[in-house]
Amino acid sequence: MTIEPVPESGTMWPDAAAPEQWSPADAALPVVELRGVCRTYGSDPPVQALRGVDLTIRAGDWLAVVGPSGSGKSTLLNVLGCLDRPTAGTYLIEGIDAAALSEDERASLRARSIGFVFQTFHLLGHRTALENVMLADVYAAGERTDRQARAQAALEKVGMGHRRDFLPTKMSGGEQQRVAIARALLGSPRLLLCDEPTGNLDTANTESVLALFATLASEGLTFVVITHDEDVAARARRAVRIVDGTLTEVNA
Ligand code: ADP
Repeated sequence: MTIEPVPESGTMWPDAAAPEQWSPADAALPVVELRGVCRTYGSDPPVQALRGVDLTIRAGDWLAVVGPSGSGKSTLLNVLGCLDRPTAGTYLIEGIDAAALSEDERASLRARSIGFVFQTFHLLGHRTALENVMLADVYAAGERTDRQARAQAALEKVGMGHRRDFLPTKMSGGEQQRVAIARALLGSPRLLLCDEPTGNLDTANTESVLALFATLASEGLTFVVITHDEDVAARARRAVRIVDGTLTEVNA
């Protein structure tokens, strides 16, 4: 299963603090805490896609998730992204119990705290880099202040400020992915969920995206990166492996 992009992904409330503005107290609170999380699909027969997952992720962590196809990686990402609810267990995001929220509240939480990056970049081909980044706001909640300035700043953060007026068709895959990351960063999310973000990239472009992740993680952004690529997983600060819905930490 692959996760479909959600239009509001990577967008924020305008007053969300940038990672560099976090206080030490914020840093002490885990960004993500899963306790005994299970997700059983009610198919016939039922599928236990996640079985009692415990996981704590702190600000600035960069967590790689590896595991064979069908092992539960996408299910985990869906739960972390508040796109799906556990059937048992607790998911706290920045201390808030996501499962206890209404759909609207979960959408707000998602918009406030989470950005999404996908294997395919989902950029509009007839829109410039700047417009593609700005569109994240448009999809989210209507008018926002300083949209263009914030989109420009997001492009500069990913090293793409000089390409703001380029169409995606004139960019390399790595450049397109960096624009997609800028779009996900527009509202300063705490958590970036990435599903095979380098899956369509060659070695050089993969390296540029991983270097960007390293920089953003050092600034306090928290990453969860699903990958099949052992080299990509090795660049993360931590790795976990899922097999048949059971998660284990991979020793550094
Ligand atoms: P991965 O991302 O590691 O490939 P998934 O999380 O997509 O794994 O799937 C985990 C298990 O749950 C698989 O056995 C898959 O067939 C099953 N699964 C995923 N989505 C559904 C669904 N909507 N209904 C029933 N079973 C599902």
